[in-house]
Amino acid sequence: MLDTLLSFVAPHHCCGCGETGTLLCDNCKYDIMSEPFEACIACGKGLVSRNGLCGVCKVPYQRAWCVADRRDHLQRLIGNYKFTNARAAYMPLAQLLSDRLPELPAETVIVPIPTINSHIRQRGYDHMGLIARRLAHLRALSVDISLQRITNTTQRGSGMRERAKQAKAAFMCAKQLDDKKIYLLIDDVVTSGATVKYAAQTLLDAGASTVWVASISRQPLD
Ligand SMILES: [Zn+2]
Ligand SMILES: [Zn+2]
Repeated sequence: MLDTLLSFVAPHHCCGCGETGTLLCDNCKYDIMSEPFEACIACGKGLVSRNGLCGVCKVPYQRAWCVADRRDHLQRLIGNYKFTNARAAYMPLAQLLSDRLPELPAETVIVPIPTINSHIRQRGYDHMGLIARRLAHLRALSVDISLQRITNTTQRGSGMRERAKQAKAAFMCAKQLDDKKIYLLIDDVVTSGATVKYAAQTLLDAGASTVWVASISRQPLD
């Protein structure tokens, strides 16, 4: 309802072709989905096996999915959502993720990578929280928000080594997790892979036995 009202005030434009009235038109969505990400989410290279990983990377999660490389339409859609207050973009972004994921077991719980508090205040919304709730709605699953940030250091612009150091100390889990459930960590952009790695490790340390990862995009290797 609110999104409908807002779109009336400020009409949406497709991030790919500029068409009015939508943030992502069907044609531009097809462009994104027709070039799926087929490398290992952890290293960005390699021949992946069926679990979405290369088999060489040592990661604390068992399966991974990614919609596409972070470029072109998808890069603009995520950028608009995070940096130009296009709040309603949570809907097409959650839909892309849902379209990429296979059928998930009913015991799957969606865990958004928590956002730095100051970024939530700046945007006026918790961008991954909105996507997590929308994805949960689309798949009739539940959301768990007990994964929290304990550091509020920003990652943008930091070097690889600095990112890994920050990510390692970044998370805590507010409760004991259920070892019978599958925790599906979701993020918008995977860059070095350090964030999802340490977030997944935090969930295991809190009692989870199975952690999967799904990202909307991966930063292409230079
Ligand atoms: Zn378009
Ligand atoms: Zn790999």
